[in-house]
Amino acid sequence: MEQGGKTVLGLAARDASGVLSPFTFSRRVQRDDDVTIKVLFCGLCHTDLHVIKNEWGNAMYPVVPGHEVVGVVTDVGRGVTKFKAGDTVGVGYFVDACGACGSCRAGHENYCPELVLASNGVDRDGAATRGGFSDAVVVSQDFVVRVPDGLPPDATAPLLCAGVTVYSSMVQFALNEPGKRLGVVGLGGLGHLAVKFGKAFGLTVTVISSSPGKREEALGRLGADAFLVSQDAAQMKAAAGTLDGIIDTVSAGHPIVPLLALLKPMGQMVVVGAPSTPLELPAYAIITGGRRVAGNGVGSIADCQKMLDFAGEHGITADVEVVGMDYVNTAIERLERNDVRYRFVVDVAGSKL
Ligand SMILES: [Zn+2]
Ligand SMILES: [Zn+2]
Repeated sequence: MEQGGKTVLGLAARDASGVLSPFTFSRRVQRDDDVTIKVLFCGLCHTDLHVIKNEWGNAMYPVVPGHEVVGVVTDVGRGVTKFKAGDTVGVGYFVDACGACGSCRAGHENYCPELVLASNGVDRDGAATRGGFSDAVVVSQDFVVRVPDGLPPDATAPLLCAGVTVYSSMVQFALNEPGKRLGVVGLGGLGHLAVKFGKAFGLTVTVISSSPGKREEALGRLGADAFLVSQDAAQMKAAAGTLDGIIDTVSAGHPIVPLLALLKPMGQMVVVGAPSTPLELPAYAIITGGRRVAGNGVGSIADCQKMLDFAGEHGITADVEVVGMDYVNTAIERLERNDVRYRFVVDVAGSKL
């Protein structure tokens, strides 16, 4: 659907093969409250993989993925007050919401039933939204966040989805209080950021992984306080009942009962990974000790801005491998094998298509 605005070049998947190829399309005409952003860098998230391969059955091809954008404002609508040309800004997983529902009014617009996703969503005018693997995006100022000075734009891009997802999990469930003990399950794009934010909040952080080989990485480079191999029954038993909270980032099917046993009474598990198989949750595992299980979906725009400001103060960025647009299909294959530490970021502005 042509929208008559700025013409941009991006990468799109045309079918369930998920292979990306160059695609020219029009952005919407800049509205009064819109910000036009030249994309500098865009992270590659697991969700992009699910969507471009139509694993969730909702792909509206051609699909331009990308919802971890850092860019520079090039133009603003007449009604824009929050940003001006030259500002370094970010755009995350969603780009609009109704503004009137209970969730929106409560500042949890990430749970708005009319949420407009940045990529493969349906915009207010009915057009499919197209994401950050493109020259420019046009977004309402209310869904744009400011990137603090001093944060490098490439390693900041993954904070716009992965970062706010783990930050919001801690803040919304009071797991950010200094001295609390947090478990982080899985050491990938989300998990490595959960360790960094947890340490910056003053938490004692335990990484729980199925791979004994990640021990050095977790304790050494990322600064976690403890490491548990989830298959080691003796280690898991020794740590039973010690954690205030757990953030489970694993996106492959896995048993959660052994993880719940790590929680103190009334401890909180927050699920942010999305396995395609159902979680197995016998009632006794939560009745005993009054343990709690909740989900968390990214985070609000306010949380996203607070997260970026906090990251700026504490120097938190993602560990990234920066690649060109011509490498994206290879990056997708490698991400499927979890062969990246810990996030691919595409140098959109610095690449030729
Ligand atoms: Zn994402
Ligand atoms: Zn709403």
